[in-house]
Amino acid sequence: SIPLSFFGGLGGASRCGVLVKGSNYLEALANAEIVVFDKTGTLTKGTFQVKEIRNKKPYSEEEIIKLAAYAESYSNHPIAEALKSAYGKELDNHMLKEVEEIAGHGVKANIDGLLVYAGNAKLMNKLKLNFDDIQVAGTLVHIAVDNQYAGCIIIADQVKEDSRMAIDLLKASGVKQIVMLTGDSELAGEVVAKELGISKAYAELLPGDKVDKVEELFKQKTNYGKLVFVGDGINDAPVLARADIGIAMGGLGSDAAIEAADIVILTDEPSKIAKAMQISKKTLRIVK
Ligand code: ADP
Ligand code: MG
Repeated sequence: SIPLSFFGGLGGASRCGVLVKGSNYLEALANAEIVVFDKTGTLTKGTFQVKEIRNKKPYSEEEIIKLAAYAESYSNHPIAEALKSAYGKELDNHMLKEVEEIAGHGVKANIDGLLVYAGNAKLMNKLKLNFDDIQVAGTLVHIAVDNQYAGCIIIADQVKEDSRMAIDLLKASGVKQIVMLTGDSELAGEVVAKELGISKAYAELLPGDKVDKVEELFKQKTNYGKLVFVGDGINDAPVLARADIGIAMGGLGSDAAIEAADIVILTDEPSKIAKAMQISKKTLRIVK
């Protein structure tokens, strides 16, 4: 049977915007030993701003953004949302014939007879296209049209104001390892990890690679310690499911994330995890 104080704990957590799907997860949180964060939308705002457009002839900057926005029509990735809002105009769905999301790479679409790809360097390499492999602190979205490189859009995300506090609080509450995973470039990952004081960061990971990393981390953990993964559910639902405790950020998170998670944070503040840990520890003290 579930000790009564756990209901108090679950209620306390829900009052501060943390939904816990069972008292076992609240109990487990007190023993969090490794906390793994996904970068985009979890530690960062996930609202990318366009910094620069590099267009190749015959395409204009405007055309590059337009093609990107169309190609991203059906994606709900934070990058897609950013490109659609940068274009700013209504999209005419009749122009779209086929669209396909390529997880960890980008998107493919047939736009009015043009075969358009929009995505990262991995995608361009997969297509065996020559492209400008520039190193910038932001995230690059390369565009290819009919198997020709057409240019790229440089976008940048911002660290959430709350993330620093979240990391500091977790370190203070005895979490042994804090790790960041991202599908983004090494440089984009490094900038965020450094700003937040996270010493272990892994970049350029495909969704499956994130699961593999978590498997590796499991081996570094003690028996009683728990591995927590925090993500937004976009391309990381399998990792949410694999962790001892999967936490989804509900602010931006997909339905799949909320489904796969054990705990849902209803705001976009990662520091709520530390708050929930405090509630967990307090609840355990009452039980014992
Ligand atoms: P993360 O959340 O760590 O960025 P994802 O697996 O969601 O990981 O994405 C990894 C990378 O794949 C992104 O940084 C981006 O370069 C590329 N990517 C994924 N989805 C898209 C998309 N819809 N449009 C453009 N690029 C994308
Ligand atoms: Mg993600």
